[in-house]
Amino acid sequence: MSLVENTLRSHLPALKTTSNGWLTMNCPMCIQNGQSRPDTKKRGGLKFEQERVGYHCFNCSYTTGWRPGQRLGFKLIKLMRVLGIDEGEIQRLKIQLWDQVVEDDTVIEEAYKKPAWLEIQWPWTVRELNLEAAEYLDSRGIIELSDWYTSTSPVQGMDNRVILPYISDGKIVGYSARWIGDVPDKKTAKMVTSRPPSFVFNLDHQSHSRKYTIVTEGEYDALTLDGVAIMTNTISPEQAKIIEDIDNEPVVLPDRDKAGLILAMQAAELGWSVSFPEWPDGIKDANEAAQQFGRVAVLQSVLSAIESSPLKIKLLCRRWCV
Ligand SMILES: [Zn+2]
Repeated sequence: MSLVENTLRSHLPALKTTSNGWLTMNCPMCIQNGQSRPDTKKRGGLKFEQERVGYHCFNCSYTTGWRPGQRLGFKLIKLMRVLGIDEGEIQRLKIQLWDQVVEDDTVIEEAYKKPAWLEIQWPWTVRELNLEAAEYLDSRGIIELSDWYTSTSPVQGMDNRVILPYISDGKIVGYSARWIGDVPDKKTAKMVTSRPPSFVFNLDHQSHSRKYTIVTEGEYDALTLDGVAIMTNTISPEQAKIIEDIDNEPVVLPDRDKAGLILAMQAAELGWSVSFPEWPDGIKDANEAAQQFGRVAVLQSVLSAIESSPLKIKLLCRRWCV
């Protein structure tokens, strides 16, 4: 048994175990995590698997964990504190595991009026996150930024994918289902998606009170920056209209590759701004950057590198998108 598991177990009351191994409890994090009422339905779950520890709340989405070789994260420390583990013991454990804290926060925005895309039914049964999917999303720093699902269906490998619902006016209008980890072969698609024509992701989170609408190619980047995503590297005219209808200055954040170059050039043509943040070489998009520097720092880097002159955009994107 790991030191972390040992510490947690020695402070836990007797807990019920679900059939798939979660120890269930009333989540002690819900209020701190923005819920209006404390959890009374035992939505919090702890899982000890081999040497690993995972915690996920199916109510407020609080997720944390630890595995051998990792430092003790701040979120697990927070959870330990509310579970009544004393500070001295936490600090001793922290030193034993040599930990550092990484955190970021979530901004919730008022809804924005958007096109009436049609509701869809899930083509397979979906269920809540399992530990593997939760850990994957937590490692990418996006678990708290959306609802997520998994499925046990073998169709298109759904049983090894994490499913992001596309929500519009509270309805599910599409999804993307990403393979967890690296795909095993070339036949396996990294992403399986379904979306209505001209769909723009994350419009629900946009509001007129903002100065900018950040436009990214991928949904994970849009979640990271609370911007919108177009899911391709070319903006369709309908998408352009939808984004402009928000009435904020669109700022395209292209991926740092050849496809990004096309998008940046198109943004210049549309008269939109483009951001060329100063990230170290090798960082390709906002989500990757956030995994290193945190979402707040990445957002700042994007906002401080906005270029609005079409001529300068066309010059800069050749250097930036490589
Ligand atoms: Zn909770």
